[in-house]
Amino acid sequence: MAEQKPPLVDMMSMAIPSPELRDKISALLPGKADFCLQCARCTSGCTAMRLLELKPHEIVALVRLGFLEELISSKSIWDCALCLKCVEKCPQEVAPAEIIMALRNEAVSRELEVPERLNAMLMSILETGLAFGPRKRTARDGRSYGREDMGLPEIKVGLSEEAMMALMELLGGV
Ligand code: SF4
Ligand code: SF4
Repeated sequence: MAEQKPPLVDMMSMAIPSPELRDKISALLPGKADFCLQCARCTSGCTAMRLLELKPHEIVALVRLGFLEELISSKSIWDCALCLKCVEKCPQEVAPAEIIMALRNEAVSRELEVPERLNAMLMSILETGLAFGPRKRTARDGRSYGREDMGLPEIKVGLSEEAMMALMELLGGV
């Protein structure tokens, strides 16, 4: 009888991979993590590299191995700026940003904690239609300028009923 192999274990955290979860996440992705060459081009251009505990190429490596439980509860998936530079740079069309989005969706579906700033952004979208309201900016001369200082018209805020319904449907009736 063939000797049974011991399960793969991440020795840093003693986590055990979850092939079922890896297959579930992989099915949602346009690219395949298995094609990753670990060239780290995604990480070399990453906007949030200094913030991320796990760099994009490391996230892809963990997904390939099936260590997703750790990723889903990791701060790194929320610190990504979703700038898509990693998608542009990847020679294998792996799309690390899409993987991160799928991990975020999984975290939300499990009702794990979402950073407060993202909740605030969502509320702002629901209330005004804007992710961030208009804010003043400080120029090199040290003065703060708002839209009115630059002769820009006031921004019309608020969502149409149709847009609100579409958004609510997208959010699953939040
Ligand atoms: S750029 Fe693409 S192939 Fe290279 S490490 Fe990142 S995901 Fe993998
Ligand atoms: S999408 Fe996220 S992981 Fe990819 S380059 Fe931008 S910040 Fe980095």
